[in-house]
Amino acid sequence: MTFRTRFAPSPTGPLHLGHAYSAMLAHDMARAAHGIFLLRMDDLDQARSRPEWAAQIEDDLTWLGLAWPHPVLRQSLRSTRYRSALETLWARGLLFACSCTRADIRAAAAAPQEGAALHGPDGLIYPGTCRPKAPASGPLPDAVLRLDMARAAQDIAFTETGVAPARTIHITAETLIREVGDVVLARRDMGASYHLGVVLDDADQQITHVIRGEDLFAATQIHVMLQKLLHLPTPTYHHHKLIRDENGKRLAKRDDARALATYRAEGKSPQDIRALLGS
Ligand code: GLU
Repeated sequence: MTFRTRFAPSPTGPLHLGHAYSAMLAHDMARAAHGIFLLRMDDLDQARSRPEWAAQIEDDLTWLGLAWPHPVLRQSLRSTRYRSALETLWARGLLFACSCTRADIRAAAAAPQEGAALHGPDGLIYPGTCRPKAPASGPLPDAVLRLDMARAAQDIAFTETGVAPARTIHITAETLIREVGDVVLARRDMGASYHLGVVLDDADQQITHVIRGEDLFAATQIHVMLQKLLHLPTPTYHHHKLIRDENGKRLAKRDDARALATYRAEGKSPQDIRALLGS
């Protein structure tokens, strides 16, 4: 099977050194395996995504010496695909509509009978306020939709190659219920949530290797579980170290000083960037 990987930035700001590291690693691993490197725009969040940032990202990556096939897949054009997956999960009684605000969730999770509020990959674990006793039915509502984890969870496993030696990670259904909970799969303003979008995109692009920062490691169990629920293949995962500043702080998009565009304007070369990143 041909090695296929992708770099999937959200075009909500400039690329910084951390993105450059991730993109170059994925590109270099694909090249070493005689495989394919794809670029994908994670532009589900239309309130924050800008075509100018998408154009700048392509320009920066080209400057770094990276190349990829066209056209570039854009999540904003895939709402029909996402909706049909939501319809499937809804028809199987695995989703429920949720009207809780963040404040509602904070208040419910902090209620005395709940014990200590637990955090999962998406923040506070949903306390179950809107979760129905019997599976929801009828037409798919235009609402925030959560996965009913107690009904959906299964034991899962995936291969992680970002550590040496590579290992298989097993996660039980009980762990998913307890430590992940009812994750959001559809947002009212965006259609799919990040988790659903990324799983469907990776499957449709036949991605065999997901190479991304270790900040997304905790999200991977959600993705693998969704793959199992939707009968999609599970790629190999490679979570790499994060690039930090000299104080050990993770680089953020708004950290313009680390934007590739800033280094370019200062006259640095792509080789300088590779040297800076030790890659
Ligand atoms: N769009 C995500 C980000 O910029 C990455 C998604 C992924 O690699 O799965 O953090």
